[in-house]
Amino acid sequence: MSAPITPLSTKGRRLLAAIVNYTETHAVDYLRPATYPKYDDMYRAIVPNAPARMLYVGHNLREKGLDDLGEWTIENTSLPKITGLIVDAGTKRPGKGFFPAFNKTDVKDDGWWHEEVRKSLAFDWSPYIGTQQATSPIVVADDLDDDELAPRVKGEISRIVRDTKIVREIKALHNHTCQLCGLRLELSPGTFYSEGHHLMPLGKPHNGPDKKSNIVCVCPTCHVKLDYRTVKIQTKQLRVLSGHKIAQRFINHHNRHCN
Ligand SMILES: [Zn+2]
Repeated sequence: MSAPITPLSTKGRRLLAAIVNYTETHAVDYLRPATYPKYDDMYRAIVPNAPARMLYVGHNLREKGLDDLGEWTIENTSLPKITGLIVDAGTKRPGKGFFPAFNKTDVKDDGWWHEEVRKSLAFDWSPYIGTQQATSPIVVADDLDDDELAPRVKGEISRIVRDTKIVREIKALHNHTCQLCGLRLELSPGTFYSEGHHLMPLGKPHNGPDKKSNIVCVCPTCHVKLDYRTVKIQTKQLRVLSGHKIAQRFINHHNRHCN
């Protein structure tokens, strides 16, 4: 039995989910690196509004989880070296750091590289992606209890976006406009996306209510900040609609639990 796998950061998991999703939706052949996902593909999978032309995309991806995923793969020697799956669009080869990170030599060890990619394609990464599904950055749990949710990776923070009937109503009422920052995320022309956040969380230990006065309509970015309690809510900055009043006590509850 090999050593337990160490936790992967949220950024790393997001990138891992994007790689796995790519391999499931494209014909990737481990012997043909031209079929592997490019830095650009992965960056766009993670950053929906990425500019059409980008410089230093490999460098940018490092900050978006590639460094974390790389370190995690080095740390956990029993895992296939999945970072070898991302290649430069021009050279069709992994980044300069890939071979040396595993004490291998560029070109000379291409057989090893392809073999690691083959293993990565066959490997079940789902336990390490946690609750993040390949096709979505988060799981949308439809009125589930905590106990009914899929097992999570021990010790990792999992985010569950609960799409209850009332949450769906709130999102529709706000037309998917974030009540915190005003962003209306357009996934594709005419298709908008938002999430509902319970200020006093549902389930243990808070047992907040699933009612309109406890729910804000937010964009995914603001939602993460709220979930991780890194931003307090200033009541007067909250975009409100007449049909949707947020109870001050739930705002206070959130603010009390902020870092
Ligand atoms: Zn927002």
